[in-house]
Amino acid sequence: MKKILLSLSVVAFLVSCSSSKNASDAVTNTDQAVKYAATITEKDLAKHLFIYASDAFEGRDTGEPGQKKAIAYLKKFYVDQGIASPLGGDDYYQEVPASFLNQGRKRGKALKDSENVVAFIKGSEKPEEILVISAHLDHVGMRDGKIYNGADDDGSGTVAILEIAEAFQKAVKAGIRPKRSILFLHVTGEEKGLLGSKFYVENPIFPIPNTVANLNIDMIGRIDDRHKDNPNYVYLIGSDKLSTELHNLSEEMNTKYTKIALDYKYNDDKDPNRFYYRSDHYNFAKYNIPIIFYFNGTHEDYHQPTDTPDKINYDLLQNRTRLVFYTAWEVANREARVVVDKPVTLPN
Ligand SMILES: [Zn+2]
Repeated sequence: MKKILLSLSVVAFLVSCSSSKNASDAVTNTDQAVKYAATITEKDLAKHLFIYASDAFEGRDTGEPGQKKAIAYLKKFYVDQGIASPLGGDDYYQEVPASFLNQGRKRGKALKDSENVVAFIKGSEKPEEILVISAHLDHVGMRDGKIYNGADDDGSGTVAILEIAEAFQKAVKAGIRPKRSILFLHVTGEEKGLLGSKFYVENPIFPIPNTVANLNIDMIGRIDDRHKDNPNYVYLIGSDKLSTELHNLSEEMNTKYTKIALDYKYNDDKDPNRFYYRSDHYNFAKYNIPIIFYFNGTHEDYHQPTDTPDKINYDLLQNRTRLVFYTAWEVANREARVVVDKPVTLPN
């Protein structure tokens, strides 16, 4: 009897230890996420965007000199941060050949060779599982002598990824590596038909089945007319399409940390804008990879030469970027990879 009681109390003690260990792990994890999210700042976002969306980049048209400046800027950032390339060595460019870009292209001038930019943080426990965070690096270039700077489209998503990558790398430098690997993917040719992301999923650097989710950011620096009176919002599109767990995770992170009004208006299958099909996440969703598309809606400067960095709401950009960071942190560190409970038929 004494022996039974003794072993029961030992078991009880061990259980309490592990649960308090889990609890303390959760607290530490939260503290760490908060600590590194705080390194994502308006100042740094603006510093990058006033360069990336400046006239010098000539609207970053696919295959044109301005786009080449853009990829050089992104590569230099990753090299300076000590964030490796998944391609190895000094090669941060996934070449996207003109032959691929011009396939089936009926109108417009022939496109020249272009590049996706890739950078990688290897996971500690599940390095073979990959979270992809994406934005498009290109815009529409110059028309009638005017430069289309594309500060919101998609300069905002591009600089958001740079700040998110920096935050994860700061954690890595402090010995806190994410459990899963993270691929920072800057795709070209989005304005020409989601071509860079199409090329990536058809020529993946990491096996598609190992890709646990894609967080895609396209235009998160402005306010649309619908939200003039309550600007602390963001549209989430596709979060519940393939994985209920990813949707709930995203909600949970927002409730816990960023408290943004998440608007699902454009997540409705019947929505005439069909935004779900109009940015790079869609190429991942086609392969049953759960996605979230972060978007602020269109505005008067959408695809205009007036989409400039001085018009960006950096406080909103900062908070929306932190939401993506917290969601990425949880997806990369959660015990089990998010479950696809609503799979679609794969393309042939
Ligand atoms: Zn865009």
